[in-house]
Amino acid sequence: MNVSLPTSWRSVLALLVVALAGCAEQPAKPAVSSPDPVLLISIDAFRPDYMERGLTPNLAAIAADGVRAPYMLPSFPSLTFPNHYTIVTGLVPDHHGIVNNTMIDPALGQFSLSNRDATSDGRWWADAEPIWVTLQKRGLRTATMFWPGTEAAIHGVRPDHWIPYDGNLTSIQRVDKLLSWIDEAGPKPLFDTLYFDTVDHAGHEHGPDSKELDDSLREVDGALGHLVAELRRRGLYERMNIIVVSDHGMAPVPKGNTVFADEATDLDALDPVSYGVMATFNPKPGHDASKAIARLLGPHEHMRCYRREDLPKRLDYGTHRRVPAILCLADTGWAIISHEALAKRTDPMSLGEHGYDNLDPTMRALFIAHGPGFRKGATVAPFQNVDVYPLIMRLLDQQPLPNDGHLDEVKGLLAH
Ligand code: AMP
Ligand code: ZN
Ligand code: ZN
Repeated sequence: MNVSLPTSWRSVLALLVVALAGCAEQPAKPAVSSPDPVLLISIDAFRPDYMERGLTPNLAAIAADGVRAPYMLPSFPSLTFPNHYTIVTGLVPDHHGIVNNTMIDPALGQFSLSNRDATSDGRWWADAEPIWVTLQKRGLRTATMFWPGTEAAIHGVRPDHWIPYDGNLTSIQRVDKLLSWIDEAGPKPLFDTLYFDTVDHAGHEHGPDSKELDDSLREVDGALGHLVAELRRRGLYERMNIIVVSDHGMAPVPKGNTVFADEATDLDALDPVSYGVMATFNPKPGHDASKAIARLLGPHEHMRCYRREDLPKRLDYGTHRRVPAILCLADTGWAIISHEALAKRTDPMSLGEHGYDNLDPTMRALFIAHGPGFRKGATVAPFQNVDVYPLIMRLLDQQPLPNDGHLDEVKGLLAH
């Protein structure tokens, strides 16, 4: 399958020609069958119970006519970049190397979401290969309307269509951009992504139970309604496999639920790498950090610290070279910072957070799918997001690369 295939649209055209030629009574089969395209949509931080608010009728309609899981388990840490890369590689963050939104690599320096030089540097992503890179290498076409990693040439390869991340693009503008790529002459992309972050922003700024969050649900659902209507108009909606996921959920963080790392230990001998739900530290070169580390490892209210090698096994985390030596996890509903870092913040502490233990119910993610490859009206048991990769590769009739997922976990979603 390492050559460019005719698209399914062509097969359908072939069918039409055969039917018009008067052979419709024959059970018509396309001469060459090719897989239906997959559109992978992420609604960042959409907690599956948001569906029950009755504010997302378009999403509900996709689910009603398709298949869903009550929830999908994120991988640890339940943060945006690590989980988005897990979904498109089938590897847990400790294996694909995007171990945090903020991290340090001995050879590459510092990575953060606001550092465009880092997010677009393929070396950060090169421990794994995302779906669009594998497909491009195999001569197939892809279009990515944002997805962490799509701005970088990974193993020297980019999607056919992509644009640099721009948080100012509205949800509708993102849909229209993707449609403009689908409308281009020539073979259609076999794999597309679409990414919305309005629900994540509202969740952080106002909390998951706010009016603003409800408004963001309406906005993103409106964009999905627009997408479905436009795909229907083109005759494509029933001929694409659409998968709607989120990367993680959102927990409310009441004002003042802050743990100060500099009150828990002496930070003079430690280099903080990241703060937030997970605070991470490395010993400062040339300093004896043993006392400061021992204090951190001691008991604290609303925070528990570990040496990376002593993290609970079920988190599947702590072996990658980018995972710092000491990790402190906040209790759900709390966040960790230092007074110095707080003073530098321009915005107040968030009223919603994620990044907690991936088994925490508030961290659960969304999974809904619709299309010819999926069962209709079914609900299947929850599974972990590493399984989305083998599912997509099966839908695309592509050999998956080695990964942490299991097709068996998600076979019940498939029509055949
Ligand atoms: P967080 O909630 O800290 O895990 O980060 C999520 C935020 O990352 C989203 O709300 C977006 O604003 C931002 N984001 C998403 N994709 C990208 C990207 N490709 N480059 C930079 N920032 C991004
Ligand atoms: Zn996220
Ligand atoms: Zn977020």
